[in-house]
Amino acid sequence: MAREDNCIFCKIIDKKLPASFVTEDDDMVVIRDINPQAPTHLLVMPRSHVRNLGECEDAELLGRLFQTAARVARDQKLSSFRTVVNTGPQSGQSVFHLHIHVLGGRSLRWPPG
Ligand code: 5GP
Ligand code: ZN
Repeated sequence: MAREDNCIFCKIIDKKLPASFVTEDDDMVVIRDINPQAPTHLLVMPRSHVRNLGECEDAELLGRLFQTAARVARDQKLSSFRTVVNTGPQSGQSVFHLHIHVLGGRSLRWPPG
C-alpha cells in the first residue's frame, strides 16, 4: 500500500494519529472532519496514498471512492448532500492525500466561494 511519511491522512489510516472513524474496509476509510463545515462532514479516502484527483490514474479506485461516499451518505440518512474534491492549493486543498468531502444536514449555498 502506497504511503507518504509526512501525510496526516496516511497516519490516521495507519492508526498512528487519532480520528473519529465512521467506517473502513480493505481499501477505503471514512472519518469525520476535525473542523466540520456542516452538521455532517465526512472525509472519504483511499488507504493508498494518492496526492489528489489530478494525479489519480486509477479509474476503478475513483469509482469505489465515489461509491463509498454515496453509501456513507445513505447510511448517515442524508437525503441531500454535497461531495467536494479540492485539487491543488488554490482550490483549498490543504491535505495532499486524495479525499472526498461529504457535507450534509443543512442547506448549502451555490456557488461555493
Ligand atoms: P482539503 O482542504 O484538503 O480539501 O480538506 C482537508 C480537510 O481535512 C479539512 O476540512 C480539515 O478540516 C481536515 N483535517 C485536517 N487535519 C485533520 C485531522 O487531523 N483529522 C481530521 N479528522 N480532519 C482533518
Ligand atoms: Zn497519505
